[in-house]
Parts: sequence; structure tokens; C-alpha cells
Amino acid sequence: MKILVLNCGSSSVKYQLIEMTGRKALARGLMERIGMKGAVLSHRRYDGDKVKLAAAIPDHQAAIECVLSILLSANHGVITDSGEIAAVGHRVVHGGEKFRTSVLINPEVMDQLEECIELAPLHNPHNIKGIKACGRLLPQAPQVAVFDTAFHSQMPDFAYLYGIPYSLYKKYGIRRYGFHGTSHYYISRRAAGMLGRDIKELKLVTCHLGNGCSMAAVDGGVSIDTSMGFTPVEGLLMGTRCGDVDPAALLHIMGREELSLGDANVLLNKHSGLLGISGVSNDMREILQESQNGHRRARLALAVFCYRVRKYIAAYGAAMGGLDGVVFTGGIGENAPEVRELCCRKLAFLGIELDFEANNAMVSKEGFICTPTSKVKVLVVPTNEELVIAEDTEKIVKQMARKEQT
Ligand code: ADP
Repeated sequence: MKILVLNCGSSSVKYQLIEMTGRKALARGLMERIGMKGAVLSHRRYDGDKVKLAAAIPDHQAAIECVLSILLSANHGVITDSGEIAAVGHRVVHGGEKFRTSVLINPEVMDQLEECIELAPLHNPHNIKGIKACGRLLPQAPQVAVFDTAFHSQMPDFAYLYGIPYSLYKKYGIRRYGFHGTSHYYISRRAAGMLGRDIKELKLVTCHLGNGCSMAAVDGGVSIDTSMGFTPVEGLLMGTRCGDVDPAALLHIMGREELSLGDANVLLNKHSGLLGISGVSNDMREILQESQNGHRRARLALAVFCYRVRKYIAAYGAAMGGLDGVVFTGGIGENAPEVRELCCRKLAFLGIELDFEANNAMVSKEGFICTPTSKVKVLVVPTNEELVIAEDTEKIVKQMARKEQT
């Protein structure tokens, strides 16, 4: 069974076509600058064949049409008929409290997805556009929505409630939801496999450190707490998002700088984080480079970034009442040994002992970066959110087929 996995952002569509027998990505790619001048599709086939195409792409439907045509193309394609796509799995950012697991998309689900827009106005509308476009372009293929929030939906109330009037939680759903769920799910399962242990008996802290960064406390396979909150702004320092900040400080800034709600949103989401502190870049590679060159604020940004990860590791150990493993993933988590080392500093009291040589050697691959005697194991696991989306889609489509038979 071939499943198309789509991640539709505001101006981009990421895709993978996965053959479920053998869990093999036949092709993957990214369409960028949708609706802008100079839209470009970067496509890569399983055998290494690569192509970049420029096209006029006014909207998500045109982007997905372009993706389908390259998947079908004689020179760079991997299928000969769009009917070979058995189903489409969509990453949907926010499922609110309605969606705790992945779902088959039908008209009723579409209505409920529309209702979730107010929780994630920057993300969900684009996910919905992708679903609608596929309904038109691949009418034969069932579609499944896989939510970033679902893995965190079993958090206890004392972990997800904020200290604001309870009525606001009831009225507007203001609470911690958490994101990057498919990534935390994947790396926790993979880590259990590498440890040769049942996930049900493990207490793991998972660290997804990319442009967006979040951590989760995964106790017995269940996320019981996570650092992102009502939106993906809370928690760790990120490329351009601030993470934890005193909410009253924001009110103060808004007053002093006469910022509108929109301005404040841009400040927290686009001008903060590594970029805001360093004044140099939102990209960890540049922050590391400039730190080495002695740039004071780049060093400061790096220090804030790693200090927060370290605090959350210890906090989540406390939340779970124990710790068996810490797992790193994401562009930074997979590729930056310096960052991992700083994140694990001073954690010997918890039983974390990094193997510096193993850590330095672990770039873009999976493995252990702790000493053999480290009580708490430290691992690097390249994430694979697309595979989780494809597996959930396959499961749901097969369930649907069984139901139709009976
Ligand atoms: P996204 O969250 O958009 O999927 P990624 O997971 O690709 O992002 O992570 C992007 C981040 O990873 C950027 O900050 C980038 O600088 C960082 N990164 C990628 N490669 C390296 C590297 N070799 N060393 C340090 N940081 C890296």
C-alpha cells in the first residue's frame, strides 16, 4: 500500500510517498513559496535522483497538483497512475480536546476541524486547505488527519491547566495542549527498541530540538507533560520563538511600545528566541559559529537555550518520579554534539554520564551517547514523523476496509 503524507504549512507543502511494505520512502520533497514569486519544488527519489522545478504556484491545490505530476512523471516519478495512492495522511497541527487520536476524514470531521481553527489560526487553515485540495485531486483516496497534539492528550489535568480562572479554560479551551506529538511518540518507541525494553516500563525525557523546540515526559509510553502549551510558543528557547516568559512582562512591553495584538504575536513568534537574544541568527549553526568566534550575545543565546533544556530534563524526571533515558532529535538534537553536551551538564546527580567521544561522533545517525555505566541512558534518534503519520493512516484505512466488508 502506498501512502502520501502531506504537511501543509502557510506557504509550503512537505510530502513523502511511502510504500508501507518495507516502510520505504519512495520519494520526498518540499514545495516552497506558495502564493509568492519564485515558488520552487525540490523533489528527491529513493534512488538519489534529485530535481528542482520552478513554477507559478498560486495556492495549495496548485502545489499538490504539481507534487502529483512529479510523482507521476516519466523521468523523476515513482508511480504510473494516481490510483496507486491508496490513502493520504495529513499532519494537522491542532486537534484541540476533540481529537485525541488520528481520524478518518469525513464531512463531520471537516466541520470539527474548522472549529479547531480558532485554537491554531496560523497552522490549521493551511492543513485544511491541503485536505480539501486532495479531496478534489485524489477523490478515490481516503484521507486521515494525524494531530500534533494527540500524543499529549492523556496529560493529567494538573499538568495541562494554567493558573488562570478555570472559567477561561471552560469557555475558550485555554490549557496546555503540546505539539510535535508524532515526533515524541516515534523517538520514545524507537528508544525503547534500542534499549531492548518495553516502553510501558520506561520513564523517558524526549527532546525535539529543531526550529521549533519541545520536550516531553513520556512515562510508560504516555506523554504526561510537555513544554509547549496552548500554542507552540511556550517552553524552550527556539529559533525565533521566545519560550517561557513572564506573561506580565509582555503586557508591560505592549504598553511601553504601544504594540497591537498582532505586533505582540510577531514579537513572540518571529523576533525572539535565538535570533532575539543573539541579534545574529535563528539558525543554531550560525549561533555555534559565532559563539566560537567570541560573539558575546551568540554565546548568551546558546547558554539560555541549553540551560532551559537542562532544567526541563530535571523537572520532567521529577514529574515522572524517575528517569531511564533522555532522547535527542530534530535538526539540532541530531546534529549538534556541543549543544547536547551543554544540555547534559551538571546532570550527574540524576545519573547522566555523557560519553564525549560517542557524543561527538553521533551526527545524523542513531545511537547511544552515554557511558556504558550511565544509570540514565542518553540517545540520539533521528525523528520520522512522516512514518508515524503513514502508519496511523494505514491502520485507519484498513479498519475502514474491514468495516465495509462486514
Ligand atoms: P524544523 O523544526 O523546521 O523541522 P529542523 O529539525 O530541520 O527544523 O532543525 C533546524 C535547526 O537545526 C536549525 O536551527 C539548524 O541550524 C539546526 N541544525 C541543522 N544542522 C545542524 C548542525 N550540523 N549543527 C547544528 N545545528 C544544526
